[in-house]
Amino acid sequence: MSNQVDTLNVKSPVIWTPETIDKAVELKEQLGLNAEFISGGTLLQLQWASGRKLPEHLISLEGILEMKSIKYDQKNAELSIGAITPLGAYQTNKILKEFPVFCEALKSIAAPGIRNRGTIGGNLMSGIGDLIPFFLSLNANLVFCNAGNFEQINIWDWVKQSAAKERLLSKILIPLDKDTMETYTFYRKIGRRETFTAAILTVSGKIKWNQSNNIAEAKLAIGGGDNKPVRLEKTEQYLLGKKGAELDWKNIYSIITDEFIALDDAFVTGSYRKKVAANLIVAELQGQFIQSGYREEQVYEI
Ligand SMILES: Cc1cc2nc3c(=O)[nH]c(=O)nc-3n(C[C@H](O)[C@H](O)[C@H](O)COP(=O)(O)OP(=O)(O)OC[C@H]3O[C@@H](n4cnc5c(N)ncnc54)[C@H](O)[C@@H]3O)c2cc1C
Repeated sequence: MSNQVDTLNVKSPVIWTPETIDKAVELKEQLGLNAEFISGGTLLQLQWASGRKLPEHLISLEGILEMKSIKYDQKNAELSIGAITPLGAYQTNKILKEFPVFCEALKSIAAPGIRNRGTIGGNLMSGIGDLIPFFLSLNANLVFCNAGNFEQINIWDWVKQSAAKERLLSKILIPLDKDTMETYTFYRKIGRRETFTAAILTVSGKIKWNQSNNIAEAKLAIGGGDNKPVRLEKTEQYLLGKKGAELDWKNIYSIITDEFIALDDAFVTGSYRKKVAANLIVAELQGQFIQSGYREEQVYEI
């Protein structure tokens, strides 16, 4: 019970409002484990309401303008998104509006009021946010700041390192396609209701073909519920180098169900989650290949 709030004796945290990344990191170094970063506070408030202990200090990132910018670097074909960009930015930001699948992913989270306050960085740093599978499929890089140094790490490596929480996430870098290869990106979230509930499952993927129509790149990712987000590396490996007509859908279905270790929770079983994940991914890929002329037998199973 040591991390439960004693409601008769709750001491408000001291709130710090640095205006630069350096100052925020310096404060965290000074205050150590007694301090926590806060962006929109939507997840933290939910956790405090469920009994998680308040920290002694909160370092608000809200006033750090350099963490709010969204830029497209044409030369390096890279999209840079500041960590405190609100989830709702897809409605107004011209650059984000250019990427419909991005808008779809952001729109799938919570409800408008939460999306106005909650941030993209807060979603990632929660370790279970619905955007993690999406950024895994885009092969994003995360830029952290620690002791005055900026460190860039691939999101899959970060997830595998158990998503260390103490560092400040300053921005997310998304490689875009410089070449003319055809690509297809998808994002699907399954919840008990359309929004405003934790996802049962979130799947996302990006497939890229070369000029001979062989799959040249494949990134597939799953998250949702209490499941730690993962990339489906065995399924990706199976797809690589193949043409649409060579894909064995039943085989893809069983590779996904073997590879994805899904947990039971109070609402659905792990085995149901596996089947939904495999069906969604197979349906997405089939849809894409059907469009390009490879109509195949479907393998849906629940
Ligand atoms: C009603 C409701 C519905 C929700 N629905 C969804 C949903 O459908 N899908 C979903 O994924 N989430 C959902 N959430 C959770 C949450 O709103 C989102 O994940 C949101 O993006 C969190 O962002 P935030 O800025 O509010 O994070 P905060 O609450 O400010 O922080 C979350 C965590 O990240 C850390 N943190 C924040 N920013 C940084 C940073 N830049 N660097 C380092 N650490 C940082 C904080 O210390 C904290 O541990 C929901 C929440 C509510 C209240």
